[in-house]
Order: sequence, then C-alpha cells, then structure tokens
Amino acid sequence: MNLLALPAFADNYIWMIHNGAEAMVVDPGDAAPVSDALKRYGLKLTAILVTHHHGDHVGGLAALQRDDLPVYGPAAEAIGGVTQPVADGDIVIWQGLRFVVHDVAGHTRGHIAYFAPDGLGATDAAPLAFVGDTLFSGGCGRVFEGTMDQMHRSLNRIAQWPVSTRLCAAHEYTLSNLRFAQAVEPGNAALAQHVAHCEALRAAGLPTLPTTLATELAINPFLRCTEAAVQSAARAHDAADTAPASVFAALRLWKNTF
Ligand code: ZN
Ligand code: FE
Repeated sequence: MNLLALPAFADNYIWMIHNGAEAMVVDPGDAAPVSDALKRYGLKLTAILVTHHHGDHVGGLAALQRDDLPVYGPAAEAIGGVTQPVADGDIVIWQGLRFVVHDVAGHTRGHIAYFAPDGLGATDAAPLAFVGDTLFSGGCGRVFEGTMDQMHRSLNRIAQWPVSTRLCAAHEYTLSNLRFAQAVEPGNAALAQHVAHCEALRAAGLPTLPTTLATELAINPFLRCTEAAVQSAARAHDAADTAPASVFAALRLWKNTF
C-alpha cells in the first residue's frame, strides 16, 4: 500500500491510499488533484472517506461520484454525496484494511476520525488515522460548532491511541502552529527539535505530515494540558484554574488571536 498526501488549495492535503490498482481518498475538497493522481498512477477510485462537512473537505465529491463508488461520511452531518453514513464504533473495510470510526466532535458537531489499528497491512503495520481538522501537528482545529469540552475530550480520545499511530491531518499548518507552541512552552527541547525538523522539510518542499502521536504528545500544547509549564502559560492567558479542561479552553482562545 502507498500513502500519498495530495496538495490541494493553499494548505490542504487530500490523503490517498493505493495498491497500484485501486485507490481510496480522504476529504477530497477538490476533484482535480485526485483525478490527476488517478491518471498519473493508473488507478481506479474505489472508496472515499469524509471527516466533516466543510467545503474544503467535500467540494470534490460531486465531480468524483459514481454509482458504484462508496462515500463514507459522518451520519450526524448532512453531506450531499455521502452514500454510507457512519458513526462512532462503525468499521469501514477497504482492500482488507480496517478503519474504526471515532466521534471527535468539536471542530464541527459531527466530525469523525478513521483509525486503522493495523495500519496499511502486514508490511506497514504501524497504526494510522485520518483526523481531518481535529488535530494538526503542533495544534488543533478551531472549535466552530462544538464546545471546548467536546474538543478537549476528542483530543484526549486520540491521545489514547498507540503512540506509534501515524496521524494524517488535513492541513499543512505545522510551522505556524509550532510558533504558538513555542510561545506556550519556550523551554521544551523536543519542540525546538521538531521545529528544526519541520523547517527543513518545508524548505525541501515536503509535507510535515503524517506526524505521530508520540511526537504530538511531546510537542503539541493542546495534548499537554497537564504539564506544569503549559498550565502556567494558560494561567497567564485567562485560564480560571489548572484543570486540564480550563487549560485547553484558554490555549484555544489564546491561539485564535495569536
Ligand atoms: Zn474544517
Ligand atoms: Fe479544513
């Protein structure tokens, strides 16, 4: 199996998995990068996964749809073109790969993630997940429709996956997220190292994704709400107390205007 990040718009990635013959894509906000990749590699598109209803994730559905093409998406959101509505605990099987649906509401009310505990098969078995706009490297999605507590619970849920999990997020927001992360935790050595690593990747024109849960647990302030340094930074930015939920909400509000 091959995993590709197809660039779309200014900073989106449309993730593609293919086996040389058939392909699946996630959140095709635009059909053109998908059609181009299908043509370039000689592939047939045989499944689409959608994480949430925003236009930059679903805008390409109409142009890609076919009668025999299953389109999975959140049952809790009305999305034109979704043929297989799925909810928390449902399992999507494609080419023998297993994706478990997780409710990760917050960015939108029905946002879901697709977690593959066995990765991309026997020869590439590290777990992998498509997390949409819930978690980014060094940051998290804005809370548009859900509540701060919902988003915090969703991130905590992701944090329970194996630390080797590869996280495929839908946007290349890493460098700007890391600037905020360094404002929160200027003394985090792992963070400084990750900044250098990601700057080198971007300078070479490469994606900083997928990231891994192990990396995010070490550098992403939104997953580090129980760390003393993160708590004191949040307290200096209006967190009412050091409860993880208060710390999370204060960080998210701070980041909105950073
Ligand atoms: Zn979105
Ligand atoms: Fe998005």
